[in-house]
Amino acid sequence: MAKSDSSETSERQNFIEREIECDLAEGRVTRVHTRFPPEPNGYLHIGHAKAICVDFGLARKFGGVCNLRFDDTNPTKEDVEYVEAIQEDIRWLGFDWQDNLYFASGWFEDLYRFAEHLVREGNAYVCDLSADQIREYRGFPEPGRNSPYRDRSPEENLDLLRRMRAGEFPDGSRTLRAKIDMASPNINLRDPVLYRILRAHHHRTGDEWCIYPMYDFAHGQCDALEGITHSLCTLEFENHRPLYDWLLEHLPIEKRPRQIEFARLKLTYTMVSKRKLLQLIEEQVVEGWSDPRMPTLRAMRRRGYTPAAIRNFCAGIGVAKFNSTVDLVVLENALREDLNRIALRRMAVQRPLRVTLTNWPQGRVEELEAVNNPEDESAGSRKVPFSGTLYIEEDDFREEPPPKFFRLKPGGRVRLRYAYVITCDEVVKDTEGRVVELRCRYHPETLGGGKPAEGGKVKGIVHWVSAAHAVEAEIRLYDNLFAKPDPEEVAEGGHWRDNLNPKSLEVLPSAKLEPSLAEAKKGERFQFERLGYYCRDTESPGLVFNRTVTLRDTWAKIEKRGS
Ligand code: ATP
Ligand code: MG
Repeated sequence: MAKSDSSETSERQNFIEREIECDLAEGRVTRVHTRFPPEPNGYLHIGHAKAICVDFGLARKFGGVCNLRFDDTNPTKEDVEYVEAIQEDIRWLGFDWQDNLYFASGWFEDLYRFAEHLVREGNAYVCDLSADQIREYRGFPEPGRNSPYRDRSPEENLDLLRRMRAGEFPDGSRTLRAKIDMASPNINLRDPVLYRILRAHHHRTGDEWCIYPMYDFAHGQCDALEGITHSLCTLEFENHRPLYDWLLEHLPIEKRPRQIEFARLKLTYTMVSKRKLLQLIEEQVVEGWSDPRMPTLRAMRRRGYTPAAIRNFCAGIGVAKFNSTVDLVVLENALREDLNRIALRRMAVQRPLRVTLTNWPQGRVEELEAVNNPEDESAGSRKVPFSGTLYIEEDDFREEPPPKFFRLKPGGRVRLRYAYVITCDEVVKDTEGRVVELRCRYHPETLGGGKPAEGGKVKGIVHWVSAAHAVEAEIRLYDNLFAKPDPEEVAEGGHWRDNLNPKSLEVLPSAKLEPSLAEAKKGERFQFERLGYYCRDTESPGLVFNRTVTLRDTWAKIEKRGS
């Protein structure tokens, strides 16, 4: 893993680490074995990244093993497409399960054996109530009523369970339920369903099964079968733990895994739920799972996020027992920090405004030296062509500038980065009164920050691109998909759709880039000086750059800086 990871240098221990340490010290566990258990019903998102860092990170920290287990017990929602994408994303993030790849479906036969065991011991029964009736009998919060089928004999139950498996009964007509306590204050213990009848084609087991285990039955038992010692999951499973433990106690399992819950990651301006992300796609709010505005790992990768930035973010926010919301800025700052270290600097003009240097010798081209990364000397430097016709950023000129505007204005001066100081002598407009060209004088003695030009010190520095040498590209400016910090907070009768940021994407079709960017590889990341971090899009055929993140927190601050 990259050296910059703060997770490995941190001395502080989180509560899970303390628990593990205790289990090791007291001999309950000899080797830490965790698992990451995604359901292959969508792509991984930033919330999963946290779980991956916890599951794989702890195994690594304690010299143990972490399994990748696909929790594939819902055949109607799952697909191999997701199975493959999830593996790719975990590897990209920098983690590896080596040969510890499992599927819950790979344990179906063992799980079924466990089910028969429960039936034989009188701890599970076949129930003929419908889903609605089961809910009604649970009667929460009042004590529930026993199912009329609860007292079937083990022999009858075994016969019915086998016939369920053999496909003798229609979908949904019967279930296998654990016989626990219909009056338990924990609803999960009110005779939970363990198996349902469902004729659905499974992406791995095909049509072999017409009964499928429920999450609660599959999860803990897979943990046990795989020899998991610490089954780490998010807080919403806390009240499933009594059931998790009850099942382990009532099955012939020697080494019992232990479930520990931690807080789910929630981020401002971000939705992290596969189901809701799928809605965004279905309602065409975004273009798909890899739309750079999505919080999925593949979208973040396409947008220009680095795996180290995400890992550092996860290490930085830590692991706690209480849910809270993390400010998106924390994630973005982790990204800025990493990109500042590694991204090559380039000049690019997003909204070009033509500048003509009236005193530049005709046809002359100078090759100016520009450093590639001031944070990394080994990145070296490059030559950037400079000529008498340039583009600067439209925003870097104001005809009527506010106070403290240090960029270009009529009669004003500015330094062109790595080059000369210029003075704006004339503003050329089109018939609609829009500024289309600035006619300027350059001051030859000011090259590379030498002597200041006549008229005193120049405060502003702007970036530029030589017109004749520029390569044209499309730049996509991405911003938060939601305008509200909590996208799910909706007024009465409202919809999360009302919280969308109408300006989450702005396309600038004719940006001008310095010529070296013609060779940018797909997925390559750069800092466009004074603008932000950008990444060449991996999915577009032409030269397209996605804005990963601005240099500072908000545009407003950049405006205020005035340079
Ligand atoms: P979603 O609600 O997005 O579908 P999920 O929990 O159903 O998420 P799974 O594929 O079942 O998705 O999750 C795999 C693992 O990732 C689980 O252990 C789950 O607890 C964890 N996980 C999912 N979302 C988050 C999150 N926001 N923060 C931390 N861990 C998460
Ligand atoms: Mg889930």
